[in-house]
Amino acid sequence: EEYVARSFEKINRLEKNINAFITLRKEEEVLQEVKENIKKEGKLAGILIAIKDAISTKDLRTTCASKMLEDYIPPFDATVIQKLKSEGAVIIGKTNMDEFAMGSTTETSYFGPTRNPWDLERTPGGSSGGSGASLAAGYVDIALGTDTGGSIRAPAAFTATFGLKPSYGTVSRYGLIAYANSLEQIGPMAKNAEDLGLLYSIISGEDSKDATTIKNKNIGTPSEIPISGLKIGILKDILESSDKSVTTIINNVINKLSSEGAIIEDVRLGNSEYALPAYYIIAMSEASSNLARYDGVRYGFSKYSDGNWKETFSKNRGEGFGLEVKRRIMLGSFILSAGYYDQYYVKALKVRRIIKDSLDQIFNKYDILISPTMPILPPRIGEMINDPIKMYAMDLNTVIANLAAIPAISMPAGFYNNLPVGLQLMGRYLSDTMLIGISSYIEKIL
Ligand code: GLN
Repeated sequence: EEYVARSFEKINRLEKNINAFITLRKEEEVLQEVKENIKKEGKLAGILIAIKDAISTKDLRTTCASKMLEDYIPPFDATVIQKLKSEGAVIIGKTNMDEFAMGSTTETSYFGPTRNPWDLERTPGGSSGGSGASLAAGYVDIALGTDTGGSIRAPAAFTATFGLKPSYGTVSRYGLIAYANSLEQIGPMAKNAEDLGLLYSIISGEDSKDATTIKNKNIGTPSEIPISGLKIGILKDILESSDKSVTTIINNVINKLSSEGAIIEDVRLGNSEYALPAYYIIAMSEASSNLARYDGVRYGFSKYSDGNWKETFSKNRGEGFGLEVKRRIMLGSFILSAGYYDQYYVKALKVRRIIKDSLDQIFNKYDILISPTMPILPPRIGEMINDPIKMYAMDLNTVIANLAAIPAISMPAGFYNNLPVGLQLMGRYLSDTMLIGISSYIEKIL
């Protein structure tokens, strides 16, 4: 009772300013479930968890922060939700996000922006901003986000929490509302590395309902891994393009790591300037194809049914989707159209391969790579939303891991003028558990 009351006391006090939830369950209902689950066996028996609203939850509204799905109640649970429930976790609510996970600040949500608990004038990052904010505000200790190009790590960086973008294929996407299938993964968010590891071990694993999942033999409960003797590469080209405020904090961390005996060297990716355009070309292409299913007929927003099919389709989509989503559908359709396909889409796939190959080479020499998670401090609300190019540029450091399918963690690096700065750790494919173990050690020494 105390545990649930503590959580709801904070929500009642802070939520009108923060807006972390799109759907919050009733306290009585949550309390009752906690009381039932606490008697069961399970690694998360009676533990509250906040879930990003892109993940399907049976009988609990799932909107993807879009008017298009404002009233959608899924008749099934995503695989990750089934796994959490079978360990006794209790969903407290569904968190705010950028519409269809398209954005880096949680400002494209149909349900209004989420504010950063550290500074209410600023964004908590995105697109899983509601999950990051619900951790930073102390509503919950664990949450789920999704990461297509940084959506777990940006909020983790801006809210001083931990987030993992898992190796592609280690967590089932069944029940995740699709944005860009080849890039995205559901992943854990938490307030420390230990909880991050526990949550990852629960949600990961092969799933017959998602053919892209694989068996990862390396998954286990991670233990702290000392960094003495570890070969760490600093991604210099990325560090140099970040704001001075951010690099100051990251340089402090680098000094600490080196005084702990890590072998630290500068590394250059060499092609990092192509990562962002390649990412956005691929993401928008996949988005335009995925979002074709919202036709205003089968499910979702369908206010108009008059006129011919094309009129119905256009009116419903015109009103159901927000501006950023429409922009991406149009750009994605353009990129995939005959005549431009080779010029943009195929070229982006080639760039993706080149980036992956150079990372493979780098990981032959280094155990992990580090960089700032975000090149800037948390932006003020309103600063990015009307300037899409500026917004996209925020993802420079994070999209690399999605293009290359490798795991990446954002963890707190420190504060600059009372604003959180995130440290990003990247590892080779399937080194997720090791990466969590290293972050657990770094957490202790910072
Ligand atoms: N900001 C990036 C985008 O808008 C990443 C979003 C995400 O990871 N879902 O595509």
